[in-house]
Amino acid sequence: MPDYDVAIIGAGPGGYVAAIRAAQLGLSTAVIEKDKVGGLCLNWGCIPSKALLYSAEVANLFKRAPELGITFNDLKLDMRVAVDRSREIVGRFVNGVETLLKQNNVALIQGTGRISGPNTVEVEPGSETVQAKNVIVATGGMTRSLPNVAIDGDRVISSREALELLVPPSSIIIVGGGATGVEFAYFYRTYGVEVTVVEFLDHLLPSEDEDISRQLERSFSDAGINVRTGTRVEAISVDEQGAMVAVAAGEKKEELRSERVLIGVGFGPASEKLGLAEAGVELERGWIKVDDFCRTNVPTIWAVGDVTGRLLLAHVASHQGVTAVEKIAGQNPPPLDYDRMPRAVYCQPQVAGLGLTEAQARERGYDPVSGRFPFRANGKAMALGETDGFVKIVADKGTGEVLGYHMIGHGVTELLGETSLGGVLETTHVELAYATHAHPTLSEALKEAALAVRGEAIHFYRGGRSEREAIPTAMERDAKAGTASVERSAE
Ligand code: FAD
Repeated sequence: MPDYDVAIIGAGPGGYVAAIRAAQLGLSTAVIEKDKVGGLCLNWGCIPSKALLYSAEVANLFKRAPELGITFNDLKLDMRVAVDRSREIVGRFVNGVETLLKQNNVALIQGTGRISGPNTVEVEPGSETVQAKNVIVATGGMTRSLPNVAIDGDRVISSREALELLVPPSSIIIVGGGATGVEFAYFYRTYGVEVTVVEFLDHLLPSEDEDISRQLERSFSDAGINVRTGTRVEAISVDEQGAMVAVAAGEKKEELRSERVLIGVGFGPASEKLGLAEAGVELERGWIKVDDFCRTNVPTIWAVGDVTGRLLLAHVASHQGVTAVEKIAGQNPPPLDYDRMPRAVYCQPQVAGLGLTEAQARERGYDPVSGRFPFRANGKAMALGETDGFVKIVADKGTGEVLGYHMIGHGVTELLGETSLGGVLETTHVELAYATHAHPTLSEALKEAALAVRGEAIHFYRGGRSEREAIPTAMERDAKAGTASVERSAE
């Protein structure tokens, strides 16, 4: 008789959320964790970085204070206090998760887990054997570096060391213009550091809509961040004075110097030494292959979170965890749809998105149309003095369904809730435009961008309405289909 219904290896946002949901569903559950609960996200990712970024945001607000009629004599930024505060928040959150696991009667087993059979996990040290009807692998990812570049934790650091740097360096080169790279670029620039971001691809945040990336590059240049896109790092060497980064952009080669280098080129899977190959679990370049319910090819073994290599985000890991245990419990959760999962980047201006970029929509065979609304025409943004950025909606010309929401600006990550619901409900731009949005709020920009798809934004004049005739309204579509619509109730 197995000890548990579910044994989960790893207590990050994938593992601990799966454990709590499993317990709610009446499954006896154990989580095996070799470090602190909360994983990368709580300890060395989302939470401490967002705490630091908030310090930077407040610092920037202080820098703008005279414009709001507030003056003071001396502004001092102490990074040490910001780091201490972030670590204190982490500690509180970790305790909170431990308490939740206890309250839900989840057994927390401290140690390193290794699969030794389809229903068995060996835990070291202590040589404990855990038997379970189902095993979920939620072991996360591992920091990657460039070939031949060692992260020494001093001159060349990863995000982990960056989160504990107590004194700002005079200069830093950040290798990688993804989410981690741009968040640290904004943070260090606020603390007066000379920042260079080197990105191999043509744009910062290369997986976001190109319009968003271009706007971020403009905003970063205005903030004094040196952005080098389309630039390859060829070598990194260190000496007493700092680091030297050899870069090449096309034929042009250059040597850049800085006090430190931060490597932010992404994560690889933490799937080694887990006994996966011996158990017959299929991997793809180390990532665990799963279906839309997080099942591997071995019926009793499941995998959730970063180790599956889908969208490497905490809320995606948690959502996968919930889906997996609901399936285990015999429920009927909807299959995972990664196009409906939000993405958030917390530099300033913030970047937030859900769904397809215009280019991806075209690649998938849609005929996309788009609408844009700038924050400089949004009342709340003007009141805050935060007018940088815009909202862009990408919709299918035929059906009107919103395929992608793309936002850059102050506070846009808080607008993602509406887009998630819009995704689940397969909302059209017409329905979004009919929803009344409170005034003045930043969310009005979403409504206006939806209106702009048909050239009908109220607070921004764009001239001709050429798209209007081409795109049927929901009412016209429903009249054809003989169904009711949101528009009709507005008549
Ligand atoms: P992890 O959080 O990595 O947890 C895996 C756990 O498994 C760890 O606790 C590990 O100790 C444990 N483990 C591994 N192997 C074993 C073993 N053999 N036995 C026992 N235990 C084991 N995502 C967002 O959504 N929003 C953000 O703002 C955000 N910010 C980030 C900022 C930074 C600087 C970084 C680096 C990442 C950020 N992320 C963010 C990404 C996010 O942290 C990850 O996507 C998330 O933590 C993945 O969750 P997970 O449960 O899959 O894995």
